[in-house]
Amino acid sequence: MTRPDIRSQTEREIQRQFEVWREPSYRVRQLLHWLYAGRAASWDEMTNLPKSLRQRLGETYTLAWPELARRQGARDTTQKFLWRLADGALIESVLIPASPALYGEPSDRHTLCVSTQVGCAYGCKFCASGLDGWKRHLRVEEIVNQVLAVERLEGGGGRTINNLVIMGMGEPLANYENLLPALRILNAPWGGKLGARKITVSTSGLAPQIRRLADEPQQFRLAVSLHGATDQTRGRIMPINKKYPLGELTAACEYYQEKKGRMITLEYILIAGVNDGLDQAPPLARLAHRLRARVNLIPCNKVEGLPWERPSEAAQEAFLAALERQKVAATLRREKGGEIDAACGQLRLKTERMFQRL
Ligand code: SAH
Ligand code: SF4
Repeated sequence: MTRPDIRSQTEREIQRQFEVWREPSYRVRQLLHWLYAGRAASWDEMTNLPKSLRQRLGETYTLAWPELARRQGARDTTQKFLWRLADGALIESVLIPASPALYGEPSDRHTLCVSTQVGCAYGCKFCASGLDGWKRHLRVEEIVNQVLAVERLEGGGGRTINNLVIMGMGEPLANYENLLPALRILNAPWGGKLGARKITVSTSGLAPQIRRLADEPQQFRLAVSLHGATDQTRGRIMPINKKYPLGELTAACEYYQEKKGRMITLEYILIAGVNDGLDQAPPLARLAHRLRARVNLIPCNKVEGLPWERPSEAAQEAFLAALERQKVAATLRREKGGEIDAACGQLRLKTERMFQRL
């Protein structure tokens, strides 16, 4: 039997194991402190735990830690971390400062974007993550560790990450069985201590799992990658729209909204000549009103090998204005991190291709 990783265990599970071992309960607290505040990468670092206990822990659990394969971007700008996992798989996390350091002042508020799968099975036509297909789900600890490893690298021992977005490589709700335990650990007072409202799950629209997430007790935020406000337009670029057409998707979103209050964002990447026509604005506005959702417009990033282009700035602004005229709370993302390939999956793809050429 393979050993579970210690960072896939809840406080309660560790307590039970320590009771079996007749370890005092303060040892649980010490261990949890090393795991989450200390971001320990090895048992040896846990110097206030007796050697015999550390050995026993090592025989019972793994303590995975991702290896940094590549880092791009300077501190106080958008940074990308490419991780190599135990089986050699490459995944990425992106760290985005809250206020881009226009004048070079350090920013201590950051959003981290994490991956949930190696590759992606959903094959959206504009996305780099799906280009090489799906390889595997990330395990609980592989999701959790992205947060801890970035904070450890950023140093200082304090909190660097105030917001978490589950928008990296992969479809998070397709990996529900590992995603939810990971989010609960990151949210727990004994774990990552990140408020549920500071955690946003982005999905391409897995309607049944959206309903399931709505039934969880935690108030996670939901971002829905809409990218088209009619079945015709959405279906052209997102194959998942055949399985869960807009009617079904929006009914699930409505259910989420009703259970959670105002917590939905509609993501809408603008692609020239595909979904930026002003005819898409009225149906998008109707949807946003019905779901009481914000709309986040994102000019699409160029992906090597894909034909899509971002609309001109004038066309972007015109689309935004059309939504605003219909009283939609909309924002247009003016680039952060575009230069270092911050769109999901792109760093991994480039690096893998580079390795293949070597
Ligand atoms: N699978 C999930 C989360 C990962 S994708 C989802 O689809 O929501 C995260 C976001 O990046 C999605 O909104 C996705 O549509 C967007 N994205 C993918 N390719 C992009 C590109 N080339 N330019 C801009 N955004 C892109
Ligand atoms: Fe997968 Fe999301 Fe990319 Fe679509 S946009 S291929 S669901 S990662």
